[in-house]
Amino acid sequence: MLKSCLVVALVLVGLCFAAKLNAAESGSEAPAKTTPVKKVLIIGLDGTRLDTLLLADAPRLHQLIADGTLAETRILGTRYRKNDTISGPGWSSNLTGVWADKHGVQDNNVAVNRLKEYPHFFQRLKETRPDAYTISIADWHPIPEFIVSGADFNLNTKQYGSKTYDEADRVTAAVASRLLAVTDPTAMFVYFGNIDHTGHTFGFHPTVPQYKAEIEKVDKLVGEVLDAVKNRQTYKDEDWLVLVTTDHGGKGKGHSNGQQVPEILTGFLIVSGPAAEKGRPADPVFIVDLVPTALAHLGVPIKPEWKLDGHAVGLKELKGTPAE
Ligand SMILES: [Zn+2]
Repeated sequence: MLKSCLVVALVLVGLCFAAKLNAAESGSEAPAKTTPVKKVLIIGLDGTRLDTLLLADAPRLHQLIADGTLAETRILGTRYRKNDTISGPGWSSNLTGVWADKHGVQDNNVAVNRLKEYPHFFQRLKETRPDAYTISIADWHPIPEFIVSGADFNLNTKQYGSKTYDEADRVTAAVASRLLAVTDPTAMFVYFGNIDHTGHTFGFHPTVPQYKAEIEKVDKLVGEVLDAVKNRQTYKDEDWLVLVTTDHGGKGKGHSNGQQVPEILTGFLIVSGPAAEKGRPADPVFIVDLVPTALAHLGVPIKPEWKLDGHAVGLKELKGTPAE
């Protein structure tokens, strides 16, 4: 397994070097300005139950919660609730900001979609700010294959010899950390798949030791990525918003057909960093609120023709903004 990490690492040294040159050429590493440069890191934790996350020994995720907003989220909206409660629709809704009746991903056959019409938010960001540098690193293949668009760097870490999600998650953290050191991302999505895999094997519940232990293990990987953000040479001139989300919960050893099951329908959103409000919102929060929140932080005006279903949450600058 170390061998596969090494192969990925070697491949990336070359890619990172090229990306660094591009960043330097496009002038995105300009001298420090008085206003910090706004950036977004989205961490996706597949199949993670909030109750278990809160009980786990997960100091890095708990610190993000302490430094921001923690919202319980709903993985289905009110207008449309017919899609399956699994990763395909879950990550499509999270990353496009619209529900499944629009993006068209009803189950894990993600090839069937309307993602061209309702694309990943990287594409919206790049439409508005072509200079933005966008990175997605994930080990569940439909994300890089079908859901991501508008990415300058789009990697499936399970593709490069990682046989398990456990191994691929570690490669994901290592690659993300390296890219944070040598490129200049505006928005970055880092996804970990093994919590969900562990839930399917042992059960999704706070009393399942393996499930809780896996959240604790991934917390360390999240910490690795957060350290890489803080170790950036330009960190003091940057304003990072860190968003952590999931796509569904779980009950027993599954989460399919959970349209009526609270343990499956409940997710969470952490909005953390200097720009974040502290506390827990009173209004309901939905997984489609992730994209408007990221775009609001980056100063991207949301166009009505995008038909986004969510609204930004947990940011200081939004105080008093009514929910739709
Ligand atoms: Zn999932």
